[in-house]
Amino acid sequence: MQANIVLLPGDGIGPEIVSEAVRVLGAVSDKYGHTFSFTEHLMGGCSIDKYGSSLTDETLADCQASDAVLLGAVGGPKWDDPMAKDRPERGLLALRKGLGVFANLRPVKVHPALIDSSPLKPEKLKGVDILVIRELTGGLYFGWPKGRDSKDGRMRAVDTLEYYDYEIRRVIELAFRLALGRKKKVTSVDKANVLETSRLWRQIAVQVGSDYPSVALEHVLVDTASMRLITGPVHMDVVVTENMFGDILTDEASVLAGSMGMLPSASLGASGPGLYEPIHGSAPDIAGKGIANPIGTILSCAMLLRHSLQLEKEAEAIEQAVDETITFGARTGDLGGKLSTRQMADEIITRI
Ligand code: NAD
Repeated sequence: MQANIVLLPGDGIGPEIVSEAVRVLGAVSDKYGHTFSFTEHLMGGCSIDKYGSSLTDETLADCQASDAVLLGAVGGPKWDDPMAKDRPERGLLALRKGLGVFANLRPVKVHPALIDSSPLKPEKLKGVDILVIRELTGGLYFGWPKGRDSKDGRMRAVDTLEYYDYEIRRVIELAFRLALGRKKKVTSVDKANVLETSRLWRQIAVQVGSDYPSVALEHVLVDTASMRLITGPVHMDVVVTENMFGDILTDEASVLAGSMGMLPSASLGASGPGLYEPIHGSAPDIAGKGIANPIGTILSCAMLLRHSLQLEKEAEAIEQAVDETITFGARTGDLGGKLSTRQMADEIITRI
């Protein structure tokens, strides 16, 4: 197979981890006889510095024309001014919107050999295998009106939480489809006791669920869900929720795995290229030292192969190589070891 992948290494540790992930993709293409071509662009803070824009039209157009996009991370103290005209995160939101990727998938699995790296008790973590799906392009982060005004001498700020039925339906349908290939359970998270958008969310979850009789559906309020993620994560399979709840719950879920450096993500739309990135940020505290854990990015490549290129066997080859590497005892600093970013990638490549 031939595929055109756009690379957006971004800021901080982004370039270090993306270059290792590209070597892993190279090992896969050599082994299975594929041709992956790569086009690289600046995005985020580095793009603001060079072009005055966190995401240029040319970069977005190239991403839209590709088969898949692999992103490192964006941001850093240099671009942290909340009042700045452009910020790295703006580029990320514009990229998601421009690609029409409405569902963010974050699998959270706890490797048995890393169970002690998690702040949770080992007995709570055994067998945890959750897929959190967050709605990505609607809700409070995009609703209109938003902004500030002043009334009667008081300053007022407004954000709007709105959802259309189709925005809810497409992400819940994806959750059910993916649950079919897993433990066949969907937990739909909302705040239906308070929010009208949540009541619509719940209504549509029930409608969609009736098309999937073999999948169990439960509704859980977001406050309860945040507790259950800690007290009984093993009972969860696919969790689907709206944008802001998902933003918070996905970070909470990531703690289960012990290190931010381990977890991948995929953002998918109805068609067109998917966007793949580790869940962590640009880690400015360790940038440039060559010690970042590349596994989150490497596992994001496995998701890229699976969801955008339909290369299931190749995706599993990466996941298995990562599994064996961890079982063997290879560890970067975040996992209590001494391996460099490159050495960790080498361990994985050897096993591919
Ligand atoms: P962060 O995820 O960058 O770092 C949090 C901690 O985890 C740090 O101690 C860091 O060293 C460590 N860490 C993260 N990834 C690691 C890896 N691969 N290997 C080893 N250790 C790792 O979060 P932060 O410090 O809150 O944010 C730093 C910058 O990243 C900010 O500018 C933030 O806006 C940005 N950010 C970007 C994204 C993104 O690009 N999607 C996501 C989150 C944060």
